[in-house]
Amino acid sequence: MEKILEVKNLKTYFTLKSEKFGAKPEVVKAVNDLSFEVNKGEILGIVGESGCGKSTLGKTILKLNHKTGGEILYKGNEIFDLDAEDLKDMRRKMQMVFQDPFSSLNPRKKVGTLLAQPLLIHKLGSKEEIDVKIDKVMKEVGINPVYKGRFPHQFSGGQRQRIGIARALMLDPEFIICDEAVSALDVSIQAQVLNLLLDLHDKYKFTYIFIAHDLAVVEFISTRIIVMYLGKIVETADKKELVNSHLHPYTKALFDAFPATDPKGRENRDPVLMGDVPSPINPPSGCYFHPRCPRVMDKCKLEYPELKEVSSGHKAACWLY
Ligand code: ADP
Ligand code: MG
Repeated sequence: MEKILEVKNLKTYFTLKSEKFGAKPEVVKAVNDLSFEVNKGEILGIVGESGCGKSTLGKTILKLNHKTGGEILYKGNEIFDLDAEDLKDMRRKMQMVFQDPFSSLNPRKKVGTLLAQPLLIHKLGSKEEIDVKIDKVMKEVGINPVYKGRFPHQFSGGQRQRIGIARALMLDPEFIICDEAVSALDVSIQAQVLNLLLDLHDKYKFTYIFIAHDLAVVEFISTRIIVMYLGKIVETADKKELVNSHLHPYTKALFDAFPATDPKGRENRDPVLMGDVPSPINPPSGCYFHPRCPRVMDKCKLEYPELKEVSSGHKAACWLY
């Protein structure tokens, strides 16, 4: 398998200035020493509750954030060392699809204009070529190109998300990071957009990182899954392995909180996730999950369990293993 992305000991911290005079600034360890690889053509799901650092991770990979430490190698090259031209090239090949793809775009621009923008920025193609491309890409995401003169607010949520995907496709990317791309949609619409992403994956052999807080969604689309908690990886395995034999009590709690459609899998439940995610500014001692863990032991309160391989390709950070 060809590695397309390697993330090594990645850290992204944010320093928050304290309002109190003379007080020490607080540090949010949003991404706290993560290492993983992405193979060409796979769909790597990243799941975890809100605030655990998923978006920060996605943005840092695309150099839309700073990094505090570690490495991000895209095809062997450190993204943070690219010169301006290579960075531009990387930005073309790696696209991000957000939950609300139009919140960052001008609502007074027509969809056709918004789709043309990336090509204009990258100075790719004549006006005619860009027009042809817009029609092709709109068809591909299931929106009739006659609507390119409409404004984003004239479309439904699901259609807007399709147009967001179309915008990412305009530059012929090879790597797409979807961040909560279906989270705002109704379940039936979610399934349609997920199926669209899968069809595009089949057709173009994209590599995806698919980020969501909803495990059922991540389970549906991914080939491999990383479970994050407070900036760290707590478990990772191939999708089937993770679904059938997850190890970490946090993963189990997520499965209970976001049950898949199969009701048989709903027996033998631990109590569903209790309490809120602790603050990443002052994470709990020992294992960050211990205050919420139904299987907590004394050791868990004292020492952080390193991520270790429990069986081939299946890693967990938990003192039970
Ligand atoms: P998720 O996407 O999993 O919900 P985020 O990556 O958005 O999590 O956030 C992780 C943590 O980092 C949160 O505590 C959030 O408040 C903090 N954070 C994210 N971006 C910034 C920023 N630009 N400045 C300060 N803190 C941030
Ligand atoms: Mg997020």
